[in-house]
Amino acid sequence: MNETATLYNHDFMNWEHISDLDLERYYLGMVKDKHELAPLEEHTLACPSCAGRAEDAQDYVDTMRIAAILFSERERYMGRRLRGKGRSRR
Ligand SMILES: [Zn+2]
Repeated sequence: MNETATLYNHDFMNWEHISDLDLERYYLGMVKDKHELAPLEEHTLACPSCAGRAEDAQDYVDTMRIAAILFSERERYMGRRLRGKGRSRR
């Protein structure tokens, strides 16, 4: 194997796409370490494939946030009703 091929392979190996999980963690604000955050943002800007998946991840996180809010509202409503029932039984 010649030197050029080795260098090419090395660069190719370094070009790792961002995983869906990391994109979700990024939009959830869970990536706080700048050593992880900087390459993640740089890659998203440089890579159209990951930029598209980043948008999907953002949509997914937004949907999950709305679902979580609706769920907790429902739980609170149900909890009030259950507590109300308990009180009326006494
Ligand atoms: Zn990528």
